[in-house]
Amino acid sequence: MTFDQLGLAEPILRAVLEHGYTTPTPIQAQAIPIVLSGSDLLGGAQTGTGKTAGFTLPLLHRLMDKPAARDARGRVPVRGLILTPTRELAAQVEESVRTYGKYSKLTSMVMFGGVGMQPQVDKLRRGVDILVATPGRLLDHHQQGTLDLSKVEIFVLDEADRMLDMGFIHDIKKVLAVLPQSKQSLLFSATFSDDIKALADRLLNKPALVEVARRNATADTIAQKVHPVGRDRKKELLAHLIKSEDWHQVLVFTRMKHGANRLTEYLNDQGISAMAIHGNKSQGARTKALADFKSGDLTCLVATDIAARGIDIDQLPHVVNYELPNVPEDYVHRIGRTGRAGAQGEAVSLVCLDEELFLADIEKLIKRSIPRETVPGFDVPAGERAEPIVLGRMTIGVGAPRGGSRGGRPGGGGGGGGRAGGGRPADSRGGEPRRAGSSGGGGGNHAPRAAHGGGGGNGGGGGGGGNRAGGQPARRGGGGGGGGSSNGPRLTQPKR
Ligand code: AMP
Repeated sequence: MTFDQLGLAEPILRAVLEHGYTTPTPIQAQAIPIVLSGSDLLGGAQTGTGKTAGFTLPLLHRLMDKPAARDARGRVPVRGLILTPTRELAAQVEESVRTYGKYSKLTSMVMFGGVGMQPQVDKLRRGVDILVATPGRLLDHHQQGTLDLSKVEIFVLDEADRMLDMGFIHDIKKVLAVLPQSKQSLLFSATFSDDIKALADRLLNKPALVEVARRNATADTIAQKVHPVGRDRKKELLAHLIKSEDWHQVLVFTRMKHGANRLTEYLNDQGISAMAIHGNKSQGARTKALADFKSGDLTCLVATDIAARGIDIDQLPHVVNYELPNVPEDYVHRIGRTGRAGAQGEAVSLVCLDEELFLADIEKLIKRSIPRETVPGFDVPAGERAEPIVLGRMTIGVGAPRGGSRGGRPGGGGGGGGRAGGGRPADSRGGEPRRAGSSGGGGGNHAPRAAHGGGGGNGGGGGGGGNRAGGQPARRGGGGGGGGSSNGPRLTQPKR
């Protein structure tokens, strides 16, 4: 199949071919004709499948096909709205809109928080056909009367599962409430939880279903490897790999922001250019780090999971899990940054004894075992024993029996929670949602694991208060609660 068989307008085809694409990916081949027909769509696809072009190309086509009704001053209204969970993804999707729409007359704009409102207001005033936005800032504009969404014809909810994970459900509902009833809606999600199904039922009208990648499948084009390593030698091993294997573009994941900063300093000391990207960095710093990394000026981008979401770099050759994620699904998302659209990629995990349980969870999820390969000189030292991992103010025990369903996760415990304070997820405000083991009250509405495991049994208690009070959601449940009975894995407060 080729792109010109899909029925897309010539200016779009020209831009696609110029961009170097010849063959539509499976999601594109299936989704584009459906969207062109005007039907709603439920798309099961994760990043790396080509889903962005899958919705962007037909969206451009449909808007080009039908000229906008301009207002008295000749301005076009927003007719295409794409919501994404993160700023990075919003920026990249809008870049795609511009790339594929370069031979059309349609205008586009990206809108997210953490930067000034006024330039966005000015741009909106000039008229924008296609708006790509994160939910928080979009609602800010709507509430201030600087954005009219009543003429939206096509609405795309991208990475819906991530949106829910990040606590955007209320914002999404608010957005839906201000969109016109009659519109074409597309929802993309890598996973289909009951919450996603409920959202799809609410949003979509007799949708066509297109699903391309099985949930939690890892692409065969990614060579995965584990390097067992002593706890204190990970930094050295990483620098050794980068130098000895002559890596020029490597995305490195750490679990926590301060770990990302420390590693970045070490790599720079070793003469390896590196920058960190996480929620404590200003939007300007994040944009610059990403741009330098994309252009090849920066060897190493060190990222936390949330900051890295949506990072889309063509043919990224190396992804390194400097620390394994405590949420196994994040492993799939992390390594999905390489081996995209058929390119070969390599995903290397530096694993110390403390992380064996995380590794076991990951292998269970992806249904394969990852080959271990010791790098000479970096083996786990004889006598090293597994130690608990500290996540924020919580500790995940090791070696303890793993009771209950997913019982070993942080979170749970505490009482009340939810959206007390009415804050919005920090993404739209300049912060980064906290993940496992955030401080403060326990409970909270983003502790899916905790809901199963209950933080290890009978203990818990304590905590309380909403996880948004400080403006930062605790995605995997807050700390505070702690405790837990002896039935589950050890889950203790570390000494401070
Ligand atoms: P996405 O899943 O939309 O994030 O896209 C994943 C990657 O695939 C991006 O780097 C795109 O540039 C690339 N891509 C998308 N469509 C195609 C295509 N038809 N042929 C080759 N590469 C593509």
